[in-house]
Amino acid sequence: MSLDLDDRQRAMLQEMQVHVWWPRTAEAMVQALAPEPVTASPAPVRQGNAPQRGAPMAVQGAAATPPATIAANPPAPGSGARSKDQGIASMDWQALQQAVATCRACPLCEARKNTVFGMGAPAVEPRAAPQVDWLVVGEAPDDDEDRSGKPFAGQAGQLLDNMLKAMGVNRQQNVFLLSVVKCRPPGNRNPEAQEIAQCEPFLRRQIELLQPKIILALGRHAAVALLQDSVPDVRQQPPGKLRGRLHHYSSNGRKVPVVASFSPTHLLRNQTEKAKAWADLCFAMDVLRRSG
Ligand code: SF4
Repeated sequence: MSLDLDDRQRAMLQEMQVHVWWPRTAEAMVQALAPEPVTASPAPVRQGNAPQRGAPMAVQGAAATPPATIAANPPAPGSGARSKDQGIASMDWQALQQAVATCRACPLCEARKNTVFGMGAPAVEPRAAPQVDWLVVGEAPDDDEDRSGKPFAGQAGQLLDNMLKAMGVNRQQNVFLLSVVKCRPPGNRNPEAQEIAQCEPFLRRQIELLQPKIILALGRHAAVALLQDSVPDVRQQPPGKLRGRLHHYSSNGRKVPVVASFSPTHLLRNQTEKAKAWADLCFAMDVLRRSG
């Protein structure tokens, strides 16, 4: 992918209110990215005491909420999480979509209107995943996504679309968008560690089948879910420390590059950080270009 901007991409960036600057290499990008701790602005809490999406992730074990009870569709006697995960690990794309659509493995199923499996480039045939260069991983569905059944909907979705267009990518081509958990947390709160863990086999299988060349992790929960096996103490790291560095996610013996950035929801509330987000995208484009 070329790193030169055409007029259309410049217009998109203008729409994002991003002042364009252009490092020549990934190394220059890493140096230029200020790895300052990024503190999410205190977000208004919409419901109860639940932290709103984009608020800092609770340190494991600090949450007041008790562990999720997996009551619905309990596994048959003699089976368990291991056999459930093994089942998911052998599913094709279509079976995986059906499994998500009917999943009741964690309490998030209770209030959802729709599961949000993901969307992007069309599959060549229903049982096979689309083959894409880019995978964009968000945190959890919000109201708009719950209603529509599509990831990155509403205003945040429009911002992401503009960011993708600036990169020369669109939702129907060469990208797949999904979230770490497939059902909306009540009140748009952050997904809890147990909910993320329960949904993780779906995420893992999606990545195995999609075989992306690069993953953009948008938001702290997305980064933590993807990097928990490769970045020590990832939950304790300030969000800013995950940006500006190249990470990897292991999938089927393959190391997929991961670049962490802000969620579009966070960017809507923190307009001044759009330039940093654009710097992250430039970094990712350079990584992809250099990977051949
Ligand atoms: Fe199942 Fe994931 Fe939805 Fe929980 S969030 S019910 S694990 S699909």
